[in-house]
Amino acid sequence: MGSSSVDVAIDMAKIELKNVIKSFGNVIAINNISIEIYDREFLVMLGPSGCGKTTTLRAIAGLEDVDAGNILIDDNSVNHLSPADRNISFVFQFYALYPHLTVFDNIAFPLKASKVEKTEIERRVLEVAKTLQIDTSLNRKPKQLSGGEMQRVALGRAMVRRPKAFLMDEPMSNLDAKLRIQMRSELKRLQKKVETTTVFVTHDQIEAMSMADRIAVMHQGEIQQIDPPKKIYNQPKNLFVAQFIGSPAMNLIEGVLESKNSKLVLSLLHTECSFILSDAMAQKMMSQHKLGKIVFGIRPEHVTLSKTPIGYQFETKVHLVEYLGATKIIDVMLGENNHTRTPIFLKSRVHSSFQVFVGESVWINFEEQVIHIFDQESQIAIS
Ligand code: ATP
Repeated sequence: MGSSSVDVAIDMAKIELKNVIKSFGNVIAINNISIEIYDREFLVMLGPSGCGKTTTLRAIAGLEDVDAGNILIDDNSVNHLSPADRNISFVFQFYALYPHLTVFDNIAFPLKASKVEKTEIERRVLEVAKTLQIDTSLNRKPKQLSGGEMQRVALGRAMVRRPKAFLMDEPMSNLDAKLRIQMRSELKRLQKKVETTTVFVTHDQIEAMSMADRIAVMHQGEIQQIDPPKKIYNQPKNLFVAQFIGSPAMNLIEGVLESKNSKLVLSLLHTECSFILSDAMAQKMMSQHKLGKIVFGIRPEHVTLSKTPIGYQFETKVHLVEYLGATKIIDVMLGENNHTRTPIFLKSRVHSSFQVFVGESVWINFEEQVIHIFDQESQIAIS
């Protein structure tokens, strides 16, 4: 708590959910979730619509009673506490300001409601406003502010209560795309400055990747993986996480693992692509998985293309070229499922200087270290 910026915050808080279950009729919104959110951590809960993110956040806030399990703040169970007694601030959309009040009065609102003394209110509002760099706008009304300033005022209103933690539910969803990008870095910077445990809910993977210390990926009321963004991206634990993170998504193709001449061979179904795994990889694979059906995965940026075959493995034809500025996404055709007649494509992200036309032959290659292999039945990563 040394510098004045840190004085704004506040008690530190660790939040824990232990085997939490919450249903609405037949819908299981939270399916036995256990998670520890560290003191001062910026944790992002990421998942598709309906996966249970908001319900989890509301349960932490005390806005939703849980059916089973325990919610702890700093090792104390808070299940029986009302939202007001949990001392955490719920920040909805940042634009939810009182239009008729000034910036000062908007920020001061929770303190006035709690009958805090006037001089103390002034001191705390000023302190928060300085941290947020809106201390020169205290007499303005919301309509005289930019979107970014409004966002900071709403954050200030949450901070001034000195909560143990911030809970934020899609707080940037009504900002335009440009402001959203700006606010992402600003919010992250602020969170580190005020050092307050933050749980941030979004369905936007870029928002999650760019801001989180750790991301909890949710699906159907369960946490699929909780890890720092880099690990979530590079080592997805299952097919759901692999598909959900990354744009374009990871290429996933059904395949089979076979033993041939004491080597382990991976073949992609309905294609000519088949390759021998190194002994080290084979050993690792066999310790975790039997021979048979797998799903092969590779990120588009790990598929390299060449117009000449030298050093490259498989010949393919270009199916589609999408120009994205610095890079291009090139779809190449690997084969066709003879039963369903669906073509099997692989997306490659290449530098936009790579000139190629639809229908042209290209050769593809990839390193063994960057491939992902999933068990087809359990959908769990095995490499
Ligand atoms: P979104 O991103 O769309 O807000 P979410 O991941 O936050 O989705 P929740 O709002 O937590 O998901 O909802 C989880 C599931 O619980 C959904 O199937 C939803 O329809 C259901 N649900 C949530 N609240 C209620 C409620 N009050 N009554 C009935 N069902 C509910």
